[in-house]
Order: sequence, then structure tokens, then C-alpha cells
Amino acid sequence: MADYHVLLLGAPGAGKGTQSKRLAEAFDLEHVTTGDALRANKDVETEYGTPREYMDAGELVPDEVVNEIVEEALSAADGYVLDGYPRNLSQAEYLSDITDLDAVVYLDVDEDELVRRLTGRRLDPETGDIYHVEFDVPDDEAVRERLVQRDDDTEETVRERLRVYRESTEPVIEHYRERGELVEVDGEGSPDEVFDRVAETIRERA
Ligand code: AMP
Repeated sequence: MADYHVLLLGAPGAGKGTQSKRLAEAFDLEHVTTGDALRANKDVETEYGTPREYMDAGELVPDEVVNEIVEEALSAADGYVLDGYPRNLSQAEYLSDITDLDAVVYLDVDEDELVRRLTGRRLDPETGDIYHVEFDVPDDEAVRERLVQRDDDTEETVRERLRVYRESTEPVIEHYRERGELVEVDGEGSPDEVFDRVAETIRERA
């Protein structure tokens, strides 16, 4: 699967990050994620301001900034799982100019479940591992005590991210659906269950 190209789509909280990471390991692919790349460069000044100004408000970072990150990352990767991009139709057009896709997978999760997952999500700042205050509490007390919430996982910002998703990113899902490229996978259930479904889809197509 060395040069296989997977695009993982879904709302914030659908599990794109978790599943992409696991797919990249299982299929020996590069994990390319705009969210992580932007978080690592949140305070870098660009001509549009810093990524933080957009991210902490739940808005999209300007296409010019994000397109450059993606183009650079994809040109350095053979096979990849792309997550967090494209988030609007103009990014989808840009993507089709720079690469071909072998599988476009959409993780389908109900909106109430998305809000529950996002507002309860916590990060271990030392390892980057993701936990949840109800569904996935770490056994180790030291880890429990150092967990933090992502700046944009507060209820107000989560609502805005979901609004932006419906307005800008749902048309992207429609775009791939109309072209007959979209494979829909049920994104509810445990991370293991969802992983099995996505991996099966990719194996069938490879
Ligand atoms: P994520 O980790 O994918 O949920 O992304 C977190 C935040 O990063 C988003 O709410 C946006 O502010 C920004 N971001 C990530 N990917 C993109 C993208 N493709 N286009 C614009 N902004 C993005």
C-alpha cells in the first residue's frame, strides 16, 4: 500500500484524527493532518494573521495558508491518509490539482454525539494521546492530573465549528458523493469497531 491515497472526511469529533493515526500505522502510510500542522504553528505570523486567531474562534484558517501546508506535506509523502482537509469546495478543487485519491471515506456520526465527544475530549500534553472525561479516563493518576482541554473544544467554539462544518464542509462531502467516490462508514461505536469498518473498506478497494 506504499503509494495508496486515502482521504478521511467527517465532522469535527467524528474520529478522523484517531482513525487516521491508526490507518497510517496499519497500512504503512503517512498521516497528513492540517489540524495538527496548524496547532504546531498557531502563533506563526502570516499575512493573514496567526492561525490561532481563526482556530480559537472555530473559524477556518485562510485557504492560502492551509493549501501551502498540504501541498508541501503531500509532495513529501508516497502513500498517505489525509485528515482535516479539504474543508471547503475551493480546497477540494486545489486538492484535485495536486494529487489523485484512491479512497474517500466519510465517517458518519450523529450531531449530539459529536458535541458529547468534543466537549469531553482531553489531551495528554506529554504524549498527544486523546482521552474523554466519561468514556475513556486514563488509569494512571499522573496522566489524569495533567490532562488538558483543546482551546477550541469549549462548548461555544464547538457549536461554531459545527456551524462552519455544515456551511463549508458538507458541500465537500456532497461533491464526492455526487462523483460516486464517497464511501460512507458508520462512525459510532468504539474506536476499535470503527477502525475495523474503515480498514475493511480500504482493503476492499486496494
Ligand atoms: P481539526 O484538528 O481538524 O479539528 O482542526 C482544528 C482547527 O484548525 C479548525 O477548526 C480550523 O480552524 C483549522 N483548520 C484545520 N484544517 C483546516 C483546513 N483544511 N482549512 C481551514 N482551517 C483548518
